[in-house]
Amino acid sequence: MSPEQFSAAVLAWYDRHGRKDLPWQQGITPYRVWVSEIMLQQTQVGSVLGYFDRFMAALPTVKELAEATEDEVLHLWTGLGYYTRARNLQKTARLIMAEHGGEFPQDVEALTALPGIGRSTAGAIASLSMGLRAPILDGNVKRVLARYVAQEGYPGEPKVAKQLWQVAERLTPHERVNHYTQAMMDLGATLCTRSKPSCLLCPLRSGCQAHLLGLEIRYPMPKPRKALPQKRTLMPLLTNGAGEILLYRRPSSGLWGGLWSLPELDDLQGLAALAERHALRLGARQELAGLTHTFSHFQLAIEPWLIRAESASHAVAEADWLWYNLATPPRLGLAAPVKKLLKRAADQLNADPLTGEQP
Ligand code: SF4
Repeated sequence: MSPEQFSAAVLAWYDRHGRKDLPWQQGITPYRVWVSEIMLQQTQVGSVLGYFDRFMAALPTVKELAEATEDEVLHLWTGLGYYTRARNLQKTARLIMAEHGGEFPQDVEALTALPGIGRSTAGAIASLSMGLRAPILDGNVKRVLARYVAQEGYPGEPKVAKQLWQVAERLTPHERVNHYTQAMMDLGATLCTRSKPSCLLCPLRSGCQAHLLGLEIRYPMPKPRKALPQKRTLMPLLTNGAGEILLYRRPSSGLWGGLWSLPELDDLQGLAALAERHALRLGARQELAGLTHTFSHFQLAIEPWLIRAESASHAVAEADWLWYNLATPPRLGLAAPVKKLLKRAADQLNADPLTGEQP
């Protein structure tokens, strides 16, 4: 297939089968495309829909995102994971207000200079909302193209990525680039799926090398695997008599940056120092079911303890610490496992409030 035949086949397929009713395809603006693209990184369309609508209802323009508090943005992001995306989103909104007069720059290079916008996201913004001829290479498109050319090697390696970008560049048409971009993402998401591609329905099958070889699943080739290191931590859920749990805000850089979290200890001995620091008198305690959270570079085994902690005062003496009310939760950004643990603590306290002295 020539590049012209390739894009013609993709566009004809789009006209008949492409998705045209996603929320970010309505009232298209660079802002809406950008937010949807960032949400869709590492997250399926179905899971993004609700988050996108809530985000747009609360922060409909780049100006409102720039002016929102970090807590509000992280709250709207809670559950989507990969929180650096949310913080970069706001950083970028502020830069667009401060340095670009509130308008997205109109070329790929300037877009990629913004925090959190890689070459593919920049290509998507430029092609979908500005009609500029710019290739994309997100996860879905990478899969389609890696199969189409039977690309050897792991696409995370720079040399392989460069080859795939050249393929993407060569095949991107000059006309209807917005529909082409959307169609390529849709093809990857709906037909050229990871484990069961529907090649018989695919408009590219007559030129697809992986299909012609009968080796669709072989591409894109996986990353050579390494076992993740394991870490463990103890998380005390210190609860006062008012059904509140002591949380603190993590520093804005690093894991769960800027999110509210539970204290972390190496062991129960560390409790005494924590109690002293916040003038708490510890009472009964109970171990809750543990959980394991997988980060990109390690696994964290969390051992949660629900512990009664009497406090002389309701206020916490230090900034970035607070008593989190389980019955009327404040709007804060929480790390996903912390949210789960707070729910477990609430269930436990409803079933059997902790009473008594420390055993
Ligand atoms: S023919 Fe099959 S493997 Fe090739 S692009 Fe189409 S769905 Fe993917």
